[in-house]
Amino acid sequence: MQFERLSIDDPLANEVLVRVERVGLCHSDLHYVRGSLSIDLPALLGHEVVGVVERVGGSATRFQTGDRVVATVTPSCGACAQCLAGRPTQCCRVDTLRARPRPKHTAQDGSTVGSLGSVGAFAEAILVSESSLAAVDRSVPAEVACLLGCCITTGVGAVVHSARVTPADIVAVIGCGGVGMSAIQGARLAGARRIIAIDTVPGKLDAAKRFGATDIVLTAPSVDETVAALFQIVPTGVDHAIEAVGRTVTAELAFACLAPTGTATILGLMPEGARLTLPADALVYGDRVIRGAYMGANRFLSDVEMFIDHYRNGRLDLDAMVTRVVNFADINDGLTAMGEPDTVRVVVDMTEASA
Ligand SMILES: [Zn+2]
Ligand SMILES: [Zn+2]
Repeated sequence: MQFERLSIDDPLANEVLVRVERVGLCHSDLHYVRGSLSIDLPALLGHEVVGVVERVGGSATRFQTGDRVVATVTPSCGACAQCLAGRPTQCCRVDTLRARPRPKHTAQDGSTVGSLGSVGAFAEAILVSESSLAAVDRSVPAEVACLLGCCITTGVGAVVHSARVTPADIVAVIGCGGVGMSAIQGARLAGARRIIAIDTVPGKLDAAKRFGATDIVLTAPSVDETVAALFQIVPTGVDHAIEAVGRTVTAELAFACLAPTGTATILGLMPEGARLTLPADALVYGDRVIRGAYMGANRFLSDVEMFIDHYRNGRLDLDAMVTRVVNFADINDGLTAMGEPDTVRVVVDMTEASA
């Protein structure tokens, strides 16, 4: 990634301008940097963000200058069929909410710069639809509050809203990055009787135990060998497998881990055109389910309140999720650090950039 000086537009009526305090480095950002997910270039990345409201558009009523907020990449209208059914991440009017008569970000030469999820948080400020924002009070430190915008929302949201894990359930979580660790914590919150963390890196599995994993499986070279290792722990398979990697092989592994009637919930974003191959007999004879849960099928506004309560009560550990904090100038070092075995989340401190 390179640094450029950009102009940001004034807020439209429904928009809020937010001064960025901290932004988490998410693997989605890394996928766009590396080109494994595609985005129109040039683009401003970054989306897991907390900041302070600086200016409010004329019809935005929920916030005022000085409020602390976290953002999501999924604005919602609150009035379409999906929103009314409690599925705001599938809002039918996302495009309308993001539509602008003029560009949001402009380069020095006057050309338009796109932004990831219409957020673009690797910057001193973001300009987003009011419906993308949830309030966070200052009792939650900025370093950890940003996690509520993506990894916690996705991982815990998937467990609570999509998988709907109960204390009777055995859960496997594939991939122990920020989203996977959040899913493990979500399964612990939901009272799952066993939580099996699966990853390729032994260090991440050790960390997974701190977040609530009761058992661990180190990924073997083949799906069959990994499933065999899992079945040594739970011979009939799991009730829920949650995939938090974004590869077809791990999605197929999630399905292969399931007991009859089990559900695989796929969270990882896949490259365009990716196809899954599943054993149809296991699907039909075993009443198994495989489903996606984009951004954890979260309900952002009420979820953030829930997460804050669990954090305050010591049931949701945000502090241990942040492995490292870097300054904006060192953001590329932060991206490199994401690959280190003991990294859960790297957070960028944007306050010096704004000073
Ligand atoms: Zn993310
Ligand atoms: Zn809607």
